[in-house]
Amino acid sequence: MRYQKPKGTADILPGDTEKWRFVEDTARKLFKTYQYREIRTPMFENFEVFSRTSGDTSDIVTKEMYDFKDKGDRHISLRPEGTAGVVRAFVENKLYGPEYNKPYKVYYMGPMYRYERPQSGRLREFHQIGVEAFGSDSPVLDVEVISMAINLFKKLGLSDLRLTLNSLGDKTSRDNYRAALIEYLEPHFEELSEESKVRLHKNPLRVLDSKEEQDQQFVADAPSILDYLTDDAKAHFEQVKQQLDLLGIDYVVDSTMVRGLDYYNHTIFEVMTQSKSLGHGYTTICAGGRYNGLVEELGGPEVSGVGFGLGIERLLLLLQDEQVSMPNDDDLDVFVVGIGEAANAMTLKVVQAIRAKGFSSDRDYLDRKPKGQFKIADRLNAKYTLTIGESELESKTAHLKKMASGEEITVTLEEVQQDFQSIIESKFSNKK
Ligand code: ATP
Ligand code: MG
Repeated sequence: MRYQKPKGTADILPGDTEKWRFVEDTARKLFKTYQYREIRTPMFENFEVFSRTSGDTSDIVTKEMYDFKDKGDRHISLRPEGTAGVVRAFVENKLYGPEYNKPYKVYYMGPMYRYERPQSGRLREFHQIGVEAFGSDSPVLDVEVISMAINLFKKLGLSDLRLTLNSLGDKTSRDNYRAALIEYLEPHFEELSEESKVRLHKNPLRVLDSKEEQDQQFVADAPSILDYLTDDAKAHFEQVKQQLDLLGIDYVVDSTMVRGLDYYNHTIFEVMTQSKSLGHGYTTICAGGRYNGLVEELGGPEVSGVGFGLGIERLLLLLQDEQVSMPNDDDLDVFVVGIGEAANAMTLKVVQAIRAKGFSSDRDYLDRKPKGQFKIADRLNAKYTLTIGESELESKTAHLKKMASGEEITVTLEEVQQDFQSIIESKFSNKK
C-alpha cells in the first residue's frame, strides 16, 4: 500500500522551505518595526468560536469547516482563519487589562483548514500570516494595518498591487442598508441563486459576496452602502482615505465589496494582484478590516479590533510568477574529503570542529572513493574542500582548496579545527 497526502494538502520540501522562511522572516522583521508581537493559538478550537464569529451564513461555517466530535463528545473545529482564535485568546487571557499596552498589537502565522475544492492557490490546508490590533477606534490604526500589508508586499518585491477599500459602517449604517438591500432584492427573489435566496433575509449583504453567475447582475446595480453611512461612519471612512493619500498609498473604493466574514464593520479592504498562476483578472491575496464587536461576541468587554490575513501559498505563486529572487540557503562552506580508513575518525572530528565554529561542513558517509567524494563536493557547491589523506594524517596536516580560484594550501589539522575563520581570511593569496 502506498499512501498519498490528503487531497488539498501539500508537502513543502527543502528548496521551497527556504522560500517560505524568506516570506516569514520578511514579515517578522516588518511587523517588528510596527511593534506587533507574535501570538500562537491552537490549531483547533471549540466549534462555537468560529460559528459565532464568522456568521451562520458564511461560506466558512456552512460549507468549509473541518469540524468533528472528539472522544469526549466536544464539538471541535480546525481553525479556518486566524482572527477568531486570537480574539478568544485576547478575552481568555484578559489582554485588555490595564497592565497591557493599548492598542494591543499581535501577529500570527500558521496553517488554516477549509474544506474547499482544491485548485491553484486554493488548498484545504493552507497558511496565513495575519495581524490584529485591539483597543483603538482611530482610523490611524486602520491605515497602519493597511500600510503594513502594502509594505510587506513591496518589501517582498511585488509591485502590481491593487488596494480595494469599502466601509460597512457602524451598526446603524448596516441596519439601514440591510433594509434597503432587501427591498431592492426582493422583487428579483425568483431569479436569485438558491444560496442567495436563503441569504436574502438572514444576511442580505452576503448576496453581494455571491460567486454565482446569476446573482452578478443584481450585485452590479445594488444600492451602495456608502449612501447609508451615518455621519460618524462617514467621517471614519473619510479619514482613512485622507491618511492613505497622505502616505501615498493608492486605492480604489468598491462599494459592493462586503468580505466573506460577518464580523467586519467600518473599513474593509483587500489587496489584489494579477497573476497567471491564480487565474485571469485580479485575485485577492490579502484581506482584512475592522471588527468592532467581535471581542464582545466572544464574551469580552467592548474593545474594537482591526486586522488582516494573507495567504502564503498565493503569495508564493505570485513571487514565482514575478520571478522575484529568493534566497536558497543550501550553500556549503567546507566538504571534508577523508582518504582511506585511517582518515575516517579524523574527518569526523574535523567536520565537527568546523561546524562548532559556525561554518557548514559535510563529508562522505557511503565509503566513496576520493574521486566520488570530490564529485559530491562539487555537486554540493562547496566553497572549500579539505582533504585528509594517510600521509597528511602522519604529518598532522591537510590540503585546503578554495574552489572558486582553485588555489590550494597546506594547513595543520590543529589550526583548521581551532580557527577556520582566520585561515580563509589570511592564508589564501587571492583574498576576495
Ligand atoms: P476567496 O474569496 O478566494 O475564497 P476568502 O475571502 O475566503 O478568499 P479570506 O478568508 O479573506 O479569503 O482569507 C484571506 C486570504 O487567505 C485570502 O486572500 C487568500 O490569500 C488566503 N486563502 C483563503 N482561503 C484559502 C485557501 N483555501 N487556500 C489558500 N489560500 C487561501
Ligand atoms: Mg473562501
